[in-house]
Amino acid sequence: MTTIKGKSIEEWMKKFPDLYPILNYIPFYWNNPYAKNDKEAFQHQPLQLKDIQDAEERLERFAPFIAKAYPETESTGGIIESPLEKGDRIKARIEAITGQQIPGTFYLKLDSHLPISGSIKARGGIYEVLKHAETLLLENQLLSAKDNYRKIAGDTYREFFSQYTILVGSTGNLGLSIGVISAKLGFRVIVHMSADAKQWKKNLLRERGVKVVEHVSDYSKAVEEGREEAEKDSKSYFIDDENSSDLFLGYTVAAIRLKKQLEAQEIQISPETPMHVYLPCGVGGGPGGVAFGLKVIFGDAVKCYFAEPTHSPCMLLGMMTSMHNAISVQDFGLDNQTAADGLAVGRASGFVGKVMESLIEGIYTVSDEEMFRLITEMMDVEGIHLEPSAVTGLMGPAYVVQNNTRVTEKDIHLIWATGGSMVPDDIKQADYQKGMEYKNNPDAT
Ligand SMILES: *Cc1c(COP(=O)(O)O)cnc(C)c1O
Repeated sequence: MTTIKGKSIEEWMKKFPDLYPILNYIPFYWNNPYAKNDKEAFQHQPLQLKDIQDAEERLERFAPFIAKAYPETESTGGIIESPLEKGDRIKARIEAITGQQIPGTFYLKLDSHLPISGSIKARGGIYEVLKHAETLLLENQLLSAKDNYRKIAGDTYREFFSQYTILVGSTGNLGLSIGVISAKLGFRVIVHMSADAKQWKKNLLRERGVKVVEHVSDYSKAVEEGREEAEKDSKSYFIDDENSSDLFLGYTVAAIRLKKQLEAQEIQISPETPMHVYLPCGVGGGPGGVAFGLKVIFGDAVKCYFAEPTHSPCMLLGMMTSMHNAISVQDFGLDNQTAADGLAVGRASGFVGKVMESLIEGIYTVSDEEMFRLITEMMDVEGIHLEPSAVTGLMGPAYVVQNNTRVTEKDIHLIWATGGSMVPDDIKQADYQKGMEYKNNPDAT
């Protein structure tokens, strides 16, 4: 009989009855029993506000470089940020689909439209590459922290960086972000792509001169290959999506930016009328970093939820069982096969689950059919194309209203729409059509 960490599946199910729907791919909301209030949760955290501020200051130093290297960011002074928009129309559609009235106002955080790489990975991935570049330049006395970083866009620097290699393992979007910014700086770049990675993402990277290594296996293996290759060469730097605190910090900066956007739009939140934030989760760094930053800045006025595919609920299994990255969805017989390539991760990050277990309210799962249907609804009513991973946040509010707490008309539901603007038109069309079929035949979902 196969056992998982010494227990049979039956024993695990007995201990955690919620495993029944999860192991049968049935969409499910899990209320996190390990959640703590703000004060308790922050007693033992490894990262603090000053770490987030340090990351934000680094991005400010690089802003003149970004503005020069990417003219589309000139209007924001080289700050890579996404719009915050109201989502009244999609809210009405979600209420109709779920049959659930949802008190409160919907907002969409459109990371799908982040400049440079069109996904949430533009936060963490680009940040870590910039930090590494800065470290190399400072070590080699080619830069002082007081300089205007605009000059890094010049050929001298490209030549310097060309001696160095950056490696990463990815399901697609992280490779895209890191590949694009690294190639721009002049680094050699090698991206190990898992089998889920979409062809267009590989093509785009190759066009930019990035070496793409394709794997027939899943994301965890792609990461391992990248890590091993980097160890052989002292001028290679591996960006470790499973363990990197720099990636995580890059994502946390979103909270400082969001605070300014909320103020500008006069959106008020409080512990009594909180903002519920719904974040699609793969390995956990992106949603974990954003949620961590939000909790540091807003405390109990923010409540965070992660969304995962029914086929890849790695964070949910890890957190529920407290086994975190010691187990994978495959250990429990799940197949990790999903159209949500950004979330097609079988094993969660080694540290994110532990950091977040006291800080998030719950995790829920979404079926692939539901994702396509939501892509079509978003296009129809908001005119915004999102990729399958990025729509999963939309299912959250109905679950929250059904499953827990008091949700008032003054609450805010912030759906983090994590990617999609760079999807090629023919694929956008195909996704839309697929969603149309499910919409016309709801029993299929
Ligand atoms: C990567 C990704 C996520 C999740 O981020 P993780 O750090 O892997 O948890 C969500 N949405 C999209 C579109 C992504 O590419």
